[in-house]
Amino acid sequence: MDCLFCAIIKGDIPSKKVYEDEYCYSFMDINPQAPIHCLVVPKVHIASADEITAESAPIVAKIFEAIPKIAAELGLADGYRVITNVGENGCQSVKHIHFHILGGKKLSENMG
Ligand code: AMP
Ligand code: ZN
Repeated sequence: MDCLFCAIIKGDIPSKKVYEDEYCYSFMDINPQAPIHCLVVPKVHIASADEITAESAPIVAKIFEAIPKIAAELGLADGYRVITNVGENGCQSVKHIHFHILGGKKLSENMG
């Protein structure tokens, strides 16, 4: 399967690693939309939040266990935003589920 984030997880495409454990990998976004912008992805390929099943939900839960650790690592004690885009209308460009962590400033109240 031709998947950019699977290639990043494998190390075939370089990335700036922030965090890694058995279930997930986090790296800085190449085109940051905030002073701090990283992505968290599961190591297994799940296409989007719309594809989460009873079987894969525990993996997604592992990502949400990692997020506070990543936020602490990045110094986001004042808060941050977690976003996942889904499908065409959600403007999802990479079809491997990923959670954006954005912070480092007071973010816009406008989310859509
Ligand atoms: P989305 O539009 O929600 O699918 O988000 C995809 C994100 O992946 C965008 O914020 C891109 O800037 C980011 N991105 C694309 N290619 C890379 C890459 N090689 N390394 C890091 N981030 C990337
Ligand atoms: Zn993938």
